[in-house]
Amino acid sequence: MAKTITIPVDAYLITLQIESYQVVEKKIAVGKSTQIQHERVKQTRDIPPNQNDKTVMRAIDVANAIWAPADITFQLRKSFFPVTEAPGNVEEVSVSGFFQMITTLKIKPIGAVAALFVNRFEKRDLGGFAAEALGVCIVTSLGDPVLGKTLAHEFGHLLSLPDLRNDPKSVANNYNLMYEASRAGDKLTSDQINKARNSERVKLVYQSP
Ligand SMILES: [Zn+2]
Repeated sequence: MAKTITIPVDAYLITLQIESYQVVEKKIAVGKSTQIQHERVKQTRDIPPNQNDKTVMRAIDVANAIWAPADITFQLRKSFFPVTEAPGNVEEVSVSGFFQMITTLKIKPIGAVAALFVNRFEKRDLGGFAAEALGVCIVTSLGDPVLGKTLAHEFGHLLSLPDLRNDPKSVANNYNLMYEASRAGDKLTSDQINKARNSERVKLVYQSP
C-alpha cells in the first residue's frame, strides 16, 4: 500500500463587486435661487460566490472519494472570504480575470493548493480552470456533487495531469477523471496515479517547512 499523500487546500470564497455610476440631481441654494447640480454617485453591487464552508467541505469530500484510489487526500486548511473588485467590472470571471485576482488577492499557496470559488466563471473545462504552475484553480458555482467532480478534475491539473481528448476508437477516456468534456466516470489510470503522486506540486507540498 502506498503512503497516503495529504494536500492542504486554501479555499477562497470570493464576493465580486460590480461598480456602476448613477447621475443624480441635487438642488443647491445659491442666494435666493436654487441651482440644479448633477452628481455622479457610485453604486456597488455584490456578487456572492454561492458557496459556504459546508458546500466547499462537501465538494472536497467528493473530490477525495474520486482521488482515493491514488491515496491522495485533500484537506481544507483555511477558508478565506475576500470581497474584491470584479475583474473588468463584469460578473463572469474570464481566464485573464482569474490571473488578475490571483495577483490582487496575493494568492500564493505555500505547501498547499488554492481553490477559488466564484459565482460565474467562463465555460472552460465544464466550469473550472487550473493554473498548474501557481497551484491555483477556480470553479464556477455548481451544485453537489458536480462542484466536487469539477474540483477533482482541476486538482488533477494541479497535480500535472493533462486533459484526455476524445478518442474515436475507444470510450475509455470518457470514463476518466481527466476527460476534456462531460464524463461518464471518474477513473484514474495507474499512469495518472504515478504522475500525480510524483508531481511537482506534491514535491512542493512536502518540501515546504
Ligand atoms: Zn481539464
